[in-house]
Amino acid sequence: MHDRIVLRTTLLALALAIVLSASTISSQTQQPPTPPPSTLGPPTRADLLRGQYGRYRANNDLLFYHLDVRVDPEKKSVTGKNTIRFRMLADDTRIQLDLAANLNIDRILLGATPLKYERDLGTVYVDFPSTLRSGREYTIDFHYSGQPQEQGRFGGMAFRKDAGGSHWITTACEDDGASVWWPNKDQWRDEVERMQISVSIPNNLVDVSNGRFMSKTDLGDGYTRWDWLVQYPINNYNVALNIGPYEHFSDKLGDLPLDFYVLPANMEKAKKQFAQAKPMLEAFRSYFGEYPFEKDGFKLIEVPYAGMEHQSAVAYGNGFVNGYLDRDWTGIGISLKFDFIIVHESGHEWFGNAVSAADVSDMWIHEGWTTYLESLYVEKLFGHDEAIRYVNSYKPKVQNREPIITQRGIHRQPQQDMYFKGTLFLNTLRSVVNDDGTWWALVRDFYQQFKYQNIMTEDVVRFFNARLKNDLTPIFDQYLRHAALPTLQLAFNEAGSMAYKWKTDERAFAMPVRIGRPDAWTTIEPTTDWKVMPIRLSKEEVEVATDLYYITVEKQ
Ligand SMILES: [Zn+2]
Repeated sequence: MHDRIVLRTTLLALALAIVLSASTISSQTQQPPTPPPSTLGPPTRADLLRGQYGRYRANNDLLFYHLDVRVDPEKKSVTGKNTIRFRMLADDTRIQLDLAANLNIDRILLGATPLKYERDLGTVYVDFPSTLRSGREYTIDFHYSGQPQEQGRFGGMAFRKDAGGSHWITTACEDDGASVWWPNKDQWRDEVERMQISVSIPNNLVDVSNGRFMSKTDLGDGYTRWDWLVQYPINNYNVALNIGPYEHFSDKLGDLPLDFYVLPANMEKAKKQFAQAKPMLEAFRSYFGEYPFEKDGFKLIEVPYAGMEHQSAVAYGNGFVNGYLDRDWTGIGISLKFDFIIVHESGHEWFGNAVSAADVSDMWIHEGWTTYLESLYVEKLFGHDEAIRYVNSYKPKVQNREPIITQRGIHRQPQQDMYFKGTLFLNTLRSVVNDDGTWWALVRDFYQQFKYQNIMTEDVVRFFNARLKNDLTPIFDQYLRHAALPTLQLAFNEAGSMAYKWKTDERAFAMPVRIGRPDAWTTIEPTTDWKVMPIRLSKEEVEVATDLYYITVEKQ
C-alpha cells in the first residue's frame, strides 16, 4: 500500500532533525544506547479482539468464501452473504468471525438451521447447536446488510462519483480490515484458499474484482451480476470491488493475460502509461520467478486514491504520470523515470500477496521487501549504481524512533520505517552476503520457499541463517526489533593504529563492514568488543561504505 506518506514525511522532517542532533550528543558519551520509550499508546479492546488469534480462530482453517453482494449506489448500501467453508482443527462449538458493528447481521445459517451468535464490537462469535468435529468441513451462510462507512487512509468502502457524475465505488481496507464492508475471519494468519466474488450492480456499471472474470448475468431487474474467481490464497484486505463506468483494454505477456480498466476519459493516457506493466512484470519475474497469480491474470484498475496492492487486481490512482503523484518521490531524479504506483503496488504481488505476514506486527515482510523491489526494478532497468543511489535516497524518510516490528496480537500496524529502513536493511544484508550470485539465489529461493504462505520474521531469519550457514539473528534483531541503528565506533588514539567496535543494543551483534577508501575498501569484522588494527590512513582519510551498510559512524 502507499498513501499520504508524503505528508507525514514532511511533518517528520523537523522531528528527524531533532532526533539526529540528539543522537550526535549522546554519541559523545560512552553510555550504551537506550531505546527511546515507546510513543505508541495502549491497545484498545477492539485492537485485541481483532489482533488476537485465540481459540475460536485457531480451531478452524478457512477453505472457501463465496461473497455474493448487491450494491445499491443510490442508498450507498450492501446486501448479501458470505458463504464460508472451513475445516475444524479441534472439536468445538464456537468460531470467531468479524463484521463492523454498524452493519446488520440478517441471519447465519448452517444448511437450513439458523445459528445463534454474539456480537462484541466488530467480533461475531457464531455458536453451533452441536459439536463441530476436528477434521470435518462445514459451510455456513452469513447474511448481512447495511451502509459501510467510508473510513481510514484508503476509504474502507467509498461511494464516490467520477468527473462525469457517474457512480464510482471502491474498497480499500488494509488497516481497518475487510470486515468494514463484508463478514469474514478478519485476521492475517489464515488466508482462505480460494474465493468466488459475485457483485450485482446497476446495468450501466462495471465491477472489477480479484481473480479471473467468469461471467456476467443480467438479473432482469436493472441489475447485472459480475462473477469473479480467485484461484489462490488471498488476504481478506485484498478482496476488492471496483465499480464504475470502466472501459477495458487488454494485452498479454506470454500466456499471462493483462487487463486494464480505466474511466473512459483516461483511455489514451492509460494505454501509454500502462505499457510500463510489462517491463515491471519482466523485471520481478527475472529475480523471483513467475508472476504468482498466473491463472487469475494481472489487472490494473483506476481508483480515486493513490494505490493498493489488491491481489491480481492492483488499484491504480497515480494520475497516469511518472514519479509518485507527479512528484520526484526520492528526490534524485530516478523516481521520475517510472510510475511509482505501478512498480510498488505490483511488487506486492510477490511480497505481501504471495509471501504474506501472519501478523500485522511483521508487515515489513510486505513493505520493506516491496520497497526493496523498487530498487531491484531500478537495478534491472538503470543499473547497479542507480539502484544503490535509489535505496540511499530513502534515508531522509527514516525516523529510527520505534522498532520496525510491533507488538504481536494487537493488530498494530508498524510505523513507516518498515518501508524505508526495511529496504535499507535488505541492502545492508546484500553487502553482508558480499556476493551477488549468492544474494540473487538467496532472495529467489526465499520467495519460492514461502510463496502462498503466511510467515513471521523468525521464518525469514531461520531461512537466511540456514542458507548462509551463519547466525545473522543479532543483525536482524538490531535492525528490526530495536529503534537505533548500529553505530560503528572508530578510535584513532595513536598514530598507525585504529580501534573499532559496534555500539548496538544486541550484545552478540557482529557484522562485517567496508572501510578505507572507496576505490579500495578493506572489509573489517567488528563485534561489540574493541579490536585494534594497524592503519595507514588518518582519521580524516578513513571512509566507511555507508551506502552499502545502513549504519551510523562515530570517529573519536
Ligand atoms: Zn506497499
